[in-house]
Amino acid sequence: MTGDVLWFNGRFTTTDERLIGVEDRGFQFGDAIYEVFKFLRHRPIFLREHFHRLETGLRELEIPNPWDERSFVDVMRALLDKTETADGIVYIQVTRGEARRAHFWPEGIEPTALAYSRAFVFPDAAKKERGIKIITTPDIRWHHCDVKSVNLLANAFAKKKAQRAGVDEAILLNDGLVREGASSSFFAVRSGRIITHPLDENILPGVVRDRVIELALREAKIRVDERPLREQELFDLDEAFITSTTQGVMPVTEIDGRIIGNSRCGEITSALQRLFDADELASANSSGR
Ligand code: PLP
Repeated sequence: MTGDVLWFNGRFTTTDERLIGVEDRGFQFGDAIYEVFKFLRHRPIFLREHFHRLETGLRELEIPNPWDERSFVDVMRALLDKTETADGIVYIQVTRGEARRAHFWPEGIEPTALAYSRAFVFPDAAKKERGIKIITTPDIRWHHCDVKSVNLLANAFAKKKAQRAGVDEAILLNDGLVREGASSSFFAVRSGRIITHPLDENILPGVVRDRVIELALREAKIRVDERPLREQELFDLDEAFITSTTQGVMPVTEIDGRIIGNSRCGEITSALQRLFDADELASANSSGR
């Protein structure tokens, strides 16, 4: 058996088992919400924050939540207890459920809920210092990017374009404004201040974004401007970085082939990286096993 530990509609199995019906609406319509959290030494990080985002997304899509906070935490703890690898991620998905194919969904169908754990190699110290190169690309997503829906075709195309350009991430531009990365939040640093897109329907409310803003304001005493960055401003920055559950705070050293700052991790980015890494460990330690 090579599969990862999988919790599927109330029972444990592994990802080797084929389980999704062909008429599951997640499969046919992308009618589903997903979530990803990180764990270290079998301990979940920012679990409640991930639950709350899942809950909000499900409510917005009118999909019943199969969990309350207590049962969610219990299932994720049990999953991590069965997981061999100490560090990794858990992928969660809740679809509207299975029904005879029609765009409108019937009332009262049971959601399909699953979660599986997986080993993940998080960026090491050298990578976090070296940073990543990124490109820009048009944002062709729908109008509810605040919902973590599994409709990721536009994100997948942006990411493939980045890979073909030999870089790690693509940031999405819309109306001449920088929204976010294909799978990350985007931050700029200029004249000692941090700039990032405000929370609205154009971006996902990143769990790490939220923590980093809090740490910048409370711990580092750095001003944060929550406003969309104009495309032209991208090439006159002191520092830039992206944030996500798997990448943490990751410096950006090049955008569309143009060097940002001194082409390595900047001072403010580095300070936030340290604060965030400590915050993450504190969350793991306080969550117990
Ligand atoms: N924005 C998008 C579009 C994402 O897909 C992700 C993560 O997958 C993020 C932002 C970062 O969110 P988080 O910090 O919760 O991982």
